[in-house]
Amino acid sequence: MDKLDIKVLIKQVPNTSEVKIDPHTGTLMREGMESIINPDDLHAIEAALQLRDTHGGKVTAISMGPPQAKDVLREALGMGVDECILLTDRAFAGADTLATSYTLGKCVLRLGRFDLVIAGHQAIDGDTAQIGPQVAEFLGIPQVIRAIRLEIRGDGLLAERTAEEGTEIVKSTLPALVTVTKEANDPRYLFVPLLMAAFEEDAPIRVWGGNDIGADEAGTGLKGSPTRVRRTFTPSHNKKIERLNGMPADMARTLVERLRERKVI
Ligand SMILES: Cc1cc2nc3c(=O)[nH]c(=O)nc-3n(C[C@H](O)[C@H](O)[C@H](O)COP(=O)(O)OP(=O)(O)OC[C@H]3O[C@@H](n4cnc5c(N)ncnc54)[C@H](O)[C@@H]3O)c2cc1C
Repeated sequence: MDKLDIKVLIKQVPNTSEVKIDPHTGTLMREGMESIINPDDLHAIEAALQLRDTHGGKVTAISMGPPQAKDVLREALGMGVDECILLTDRAFAGADTLATSYTLGKCVLRLGRFDLVIAGHQAIDGDTAQIGPQVAEFLGIPQVIRAIRLEIRGDGLLAERTAEEGTEIVKSTLPALVTVTKEANDPRYLFVPLLMAAFEEDAPIRVWGGNDIGADEAGTGLKGSPTRVRRTFTPSHNKKIERLNGMPADMARTLVERLRERKVI
């Protein structure tokens, strides 16, 4: 197998798994929230770097987001990624998973030959786990999801993936798309000289918009998003608590009565 060309998809997310939704606009409330690389994506980067270090080649990180998403690309460079693409354009705003996958897929195609696309399994904010499979569909290549081990064997890929009961070993031709979970590896620490270089003017981060990837505007952003969020809400918890006091036997009797009243027993 020649040197590997690997694309890694990374997403900037708010540093919390308890995303707050604005009840009026139905959008995420991001104000004052620190942003980080989506945790699964650190494992995607590590998996890509390990394969590159073994077989030679190049790792390109791609992120679609606002201009601030450059920060996560700098972090990827600090881990050892070779080059990055930031996909940012007003036309991308309001993208659902279909439009996001279309945009990321167009970027992969624009970059030319590739062997592997590696994504995280799931983002901690959107949480759909749809992007990896949708990008694979768009590119028309095989996909292995929830991988925990990757190996290049001959001209193909050998992967171990988690299934409902235990794990499966699967073989795939290349090019392929893989999503990885946290069990895949331990992401390496940032290498300070690389991180410092990532802040230089000549850092290998290209900033592309829709025209650069040949995207049809009808397929990106809100225009390309068939999903409409009609209503979002945080479930309210109206639990009533009754505390029982007294002698254990009396409390047990009352408890049984309460459970009967509620038809639990
Ligand atoms: C109608 C609608 C409008 C929306 N508008 C906006 C909006 O204006 N702004 C906004 O930020 N979100 C918006 N979203 C949310 C957005 O669609 C999702 O966050 C996005 O499609 C990714 O889905 P996910 O977070 O579930 O990712 P998952 O499918 O859970 O992510 C899996 C993996 O895919 C990769 N990945 C996911 N997203 C990206 C990305 N952007 N760049 C690179 N790799 C990625 C990562 O490797 C990640 O680990 C909107 C959603 C809907 C339904």
